[in-house]
Amino acid sequence: MIKLKNIDKYYDAKFQRTFILKGVDLDVKQGEFVTIMGPSGAGKSTLLNIIGLLDEPNAGDYYFLDEPAHKIKEKQKVQYHRSHIGFIFQAFHLIDELNVYENIETPLVYRGVKGKERKAMVADLLDRFNMVAKKDLFPNQLSGGQQQLVGIARAIIGNPKLLLADEPTGNLHSEQGEMIMRLLKKLNEEGMTIIQVTHNEDFAQYGTRIVKLVDGLIEEDLPVQ
Ligand code: ADP
Ligand code: ADP
Repeated sequence: MIKLKNIDKYYDAKFQRTFILKGVDLDVKQGEFVTIMGPSGAGKSTLLNIIGLLDEPNAGDYYFLDEPAHKIKEKQKVQYHRSHIGFIFQAFHLIDELNVYENIETPLVYRGVKGKERKAMVADLLDRFNMVAKKDLFPNQLSGGQQQLVGIARAIIGNPKLLLADEPTGNLHSEQGEMIMRLLKKLNEEGMTIIQVTHNEDFAQYGTRIVKLVDGLIEEDLPVQ
């Protein structure tokens, strides 16, 4: 599903080049739940952004769904983001002025899904996530865990093939973090491919594989026992 071959990412300053990723090779198959770990500054977010077509490598080959990423045009990328890739973030990134219902509905509006169908899709997810009673509330009226639930609902409403999660539990207390991890595990068991970044050793165990990134290099790549 995802294949990175010898990926470099660097930034050039006047007299020096700083490497963020150095020759990264990574293969992710459909149905995997990969956790990327490693110290701060190791390049984890950069790697996730490249995988999610939000950033581009300076060298190497990246194939997304067998498509060479450098051949995917900017316009097409928007389509990819709408239909193939869901993102969730540590800081949730919900729209404060929209209520729960509207936050979840937003991607469908952009995709041009008709009103009736939108309603059914949002209602279905609200139900699955036990959020029906919260649908009229605004993000600042929710706990962090509930906000992340909304973030996940919004990310998966278009039924993406891939869910990318950049420290999804980083702002949550451990109980709420566990709730979110159980949900991610369930989504994975239902078939969604997930790649998450986390610093939490316990939460890494919810996935199927742990990739350790240090100084832009993959130092370890092991299945979860
Ligand atoms: P991680 O997610 O593992 O903490 P990041 O991918 O966020 O690491 O960043 C890796 C390194 O790249 C950091 O040292 C960061 O300062 C650097 N970096 C990120 N973006 C830029 C940029 N636009 N210019 C220069 N350095 C950058
Ligand atoms: P109608 O009155 O036509 O039956 P609704 O009142 O159910 O329609 O909502 C129509 C639109 O209102 C939705 O598509 C949605 O964009 C918006 N809306 C905003 N907040 C909510 C909410 N909490 N529950 C339902 N719809 C909402």
